[in-house]
Amino acid sequence: MKLFIATCFTAGGDVYPDEVSHERALRYSRIRQWLVLAGMIWSGAMSVVALVTGLSAGVRSQSRRLVPPTFGPTMPYTLVVSLLSFVASLPLAYFGGFVVEHRYRLSNQNHQAWIVEELKGLAVGLVISPPLVQGVYWIIQHYPRRWWAILSALTIPFTVILANLVPVLILPLFNKFEPLRDRGLAKRIKGLAAAQGVRVSNVMQMNMSKQTKKANAFFTGFGKTKRIVLGDTLLDEFSADEVEVVLAHELGHQVHRDIWKLIGLGTLTTTAISYLTHRASEPLLRRFGARWGIDADGGAGDIAALPALALVAGGASLVFLPLQNALTRHLIEHPADRFALDLTGKGDAFVRAMEKLGRMNLSNPTPSTLIKWLMYDHPTLQERIDFGRRYVSERNGQ
Ligand SMILES: [Zn+2]
Repeated sequence: MKLFIATCFTAGGDVYPDEVSHERALRYSRIRQWLVLAGMIWSGAMSVVALVTGLSAGVRSQSRRLVPPTFGPTMPYTLVVSLLSFVASLPLAYFGGFVVEHRYRLSNQNHQAWIVEELKGLAVGLVISPPLVQGVYWIIQHYPRRWWAILSALTIPFTVILANLVPVLILPLFNKFEPLRDRGLAKRIKGLAAAQGVRVSNVMQMNMSKQTKKANAFFTGFGKTKRIVLGDTLLDEFSADEVEVVLAHELGHQVHRDIWKLIGLGTLTTTAISYLTHRASEPLLRRFGARWGIDADGGAGDIAALPALALVAGGASLVFLPLQNALTRHLIEHPADRFALDLTGKGDAFVRAMEKLGRMNLSNPTPSTLIKWLMYDHPTLQERIDFGRRYVSERNGQ
C-alpha cells in the first residue's frame, strides 16, 4: 500500500503539484485518446457507408454528367466528397476541438472563432485536394500495376514543395508569425549555435494564444522558408533559460537535418502502405466492386473506389504507425533533447521546461505502453524528465 501511494505521488508529483490536478490531466489525456480512436472508427465507417449505399458511385456518376469526358469526374467528385466528409465529421470535431478544450479550460476560442477556423481549413482542403487527387488518379489510371511505386517516389519532391510552401502560404492563414520579439534571447541562441559552427535560421514567434492556452514550439519549412517557431503561450510562461533549451531542441532538429530523416521515413512507410493498398484493394474490388457500383474495367482507377482505397490505406498505416513512432522517438526526438542539453548545459532548466510543458498541455507523464506505441512520436514526458535529471547528475558527478 505504501509503495502504491509512493508511486502515485511520484507520478503526479513530478509534473503536477497535487493528485487532483494529476487526475485531471489523466482524464483529459484519456478523452483525447478516445477521440483519436473515435475519429478513426468514424472515418472508416463513413468510407464503408459511402461504398455500400452506392453514395460514392452516385457522386461519381453525377460528376461525369457535370463535366466534359476529357476532364473526367475526379475533381468534382473530390469537391463533393470533401464537403460531405467535412459535414459528417463536424460533430466529432466540435466535441473534440471545442467542448472538451473548453471543459478543461484550454481553449481561447469562442464559437465564432472556432467556426471561422474550421471553414478556413475546409477552404484550404477544397483548394488543394481536387488537383492533388486528379494527379494521383491520373497515375493510378495510366499505371494500374506500378502506381504505388510511382506515387511513393513522388512523395519526396511533393513533401519538399509542400514543406517550402506551408510556412508561408498555409500557416499564416491561421496565425500571425513574426520574428522573436525578445532580441536578447534570439541573439543568445544565435551565439550559442555559432559557437558550435551552426547557422540558425529564422526564429519566430506565433500568436498561439489566439486558439489555446497550451504551449508548443516546432521547426518547419525548407530552404529559405526554414524556421523555428515558438508559441507566445510558451514565451509568456517560460523563463529565459527554459525558452533557451526548447529553442535548442528545435535547433537540434535543424543541425541533425531531421527534415530529411522525416522525409526518408515518410517515403518508406508511404511505399509500404501504397504497396499494401495496391495488393489488398485488387481482390477487394474484384469481390465487391460490382455491388458498390464501381466500373468493372476501372478497378482502383475508378474514382468511386476512393473510399475503398482510403479504408485499406488507413488500416495499413495503423500497422506501420507504432514502428514510425518508435523510430521518430529514438532517431529524431531523443537526439534533439540530447543536443539541447549538450548545447546549453542547462539540465535543470530542461527538466523545469518539460514539467511546465506537461502542466500547460495537461499531458500524461506516464502513458501505457500501448498508447505510447500508438500515439507518441516523442519520448514520454517522464522519460524526458528522467533523461534531463540523469544528465544533470552525470554532469555533477564528473
Ligand atoms: Zn522535436
